[in-house]
Amino acid sequence: MTKMKACRQCHYLTTENQCPNCKSTNLSSSYTGIVVILPAKDPHDDPRKSSYIADRLSIDKPGKYALKVR
Ligand SMILES: [Zn+2]
Repeated sequence: MTKMKACRQCHYLTTENQCPNCKSTNLSSSYTGIVVILPAKDPHDDPRKSSYIADRLSIDKPGKYALKVR
């Protein structure tokens, strides 16, 4: 399995060399903790409304995110 890298801008986890979420190439292979934000019943719903973690990390799209990026 390919090691995922975390985006330093939005904490999104990806195996690409560019973040598919915010298009940043500022990625780090050093991070701790993985958070999975699941889609809401209505895919247009902002996860920050229903998820405390999404709210704290300012995540507005479902996906896999790193808790801490170094
Ligand atoms: Zn990003």
